[in-house]
Amino acid sequence: MNTAVDVLVVGAGIVGLAHAVEALDRGLTVTVIDRDDRAIGASIRNFGHACVTGQSGDLADLAHLARDRWLDLDARAGLGARATGGLAVARHATELAVLEELADRRAGEVELRTPAQVRNALPGGGADDVIGGAALLADLRVDPRVTVARLAAWVDAQDRGEVRFGTTYLGFDGVRAHTSRGTVDAERVIVCVGHDLDHHFPDLAEEHLVRRCALQMARAADPGTVVTPAVLTATSLLRYPAFAETAAAAALRTRMAAERPDLLDIDANVMFTQRPDGTLIIGDSHHTDRTVEPFLDEAVTETLRAEAARVMGLSGLPIIERWQGVYASSALRPYLVAEPAPGLSVRIVTSGVGMTIAHGLARRHFPI
Ligand SMILES: Cc1cc2nc3c(=O)[nH]c(=O)nc-3n(C[C@H](O)[C@H](O)[C@H](O)COP(=O)(O)OP(=O)(O)OC[C@H]3O[C@@H](n4cnc5c(N)ncnc54)[C@H](O)[C@@H]3O)c2cc1C
Repeated sequence: MNTAVDVLVVGAGIVGLAHAVEALDRGLTVTVIDRDDRAIGASIRNFGHACVTGQSGDLADLAHLARDRWLDLDARAGLGARATGGLAVARHATELAVLEELADRRAGEVELRTPAQVRNALPGGGADDVIGGAALLADLRVDPRVTVARLAAWVDAQDRGEVRFGTTYLGFDGVRAHTSRGTVDAERVIVCVGHDLDHHFPDLAEEHLVRRCALQMARAADPGTVVTPAVLTATSLLRYPAFAETAAAAALRTRMAAERPDLLDIDANVMFTQRPDGTLIIGDSHHTDRTVEPFLDEAVTETLRAEAARVMGLSGLPIIERWQGVYASSALRPYLVAEPAPGLSVRIVTSGVGMTIAHGLARRHFPI
């Protein structure tokens, strides 16, 4: 490892790497360390969906900043980011009402789609009850399993950049950072350890009510057709703020509570994206606690699989892989920016939008 750098970043997930890119662009030397041999955290377990259009207010500003950075970095580092947009599917008047209201408010960013257009975009020709939808034009997609590794390799290949895996952060005394593989003198340490914030700063984690949110995910076999956008469904409209803040969302919530308590009980966000090999990433459920059980509930997977298959209009949708993802979650705020000691910064995305906002967070809240 370099023994003296301007910036030491802890964590080679998307938040840490976004800060490393920002450091490089500001002409600084940067070393990124991660305890594992490669990143295996939230940043590779997700949908790879930069859900830009679904954000509002401050998050929308960060998401747009991040979008620019994704595209700029894609040109420089070949990350495979694609401006595919998103597609929200409406199968009931209460869902269409949400999309119509948002399309009205966000002309140019949200465009309504006919039932035929929506069905054409779905494998299996879509559910029989599709009554319309909306294109979410600002959304991007990456393949999470390769993009984060490519970005780390790109940072490591820069003259002023270095990434060291298999190196655990132990603390910073104001001058020197201590790791499992020796010490590094650093002007600034930026800690981006995601849901493990409490391992390092228990008081900060408690002050901001940072918990672990566990999600069940699955990968389904290639349906044999190309699915270009990230596909969102009714539960997504209750989740992402741009939809959830519409006046029409109240009626949708009431109907879902009456008709689909199975989805609300597992706090589902039924959506899917397609990997370059054609397989589909399907999710997800949410369960939040300080410490989360590692066990996957087969009934939850089946609820998500069946609903995704229904939306696609497929009778069979075989699952080939399942996993649990965990991200940091706070009931108080969607991200945490803190400077707990001189020279020491903490940057954590405390909601399920790290792929959407990390680059914006690094740009806006870079500590130097
Ligand atoms: C299933 C799932 C689906 C999601 N879908 C989306 C989506 O579609 N769109 C979106 O915008 N967001 C999504 N998210 C959220 C997004 O993935 C996270 O917000 C984001 O990845 C968090 O990035 P991170 O870098 O903070 O965390 P991580 O990727 O978890 O990285 C933290 C890193 O810190 C390292 N680390 C921890 N402690 C130490 C230590 N002591 N020393 C050295 N290294 C350490 C870990 O090894 C890890 O690599 C999803 C999350 C999950 C789990």
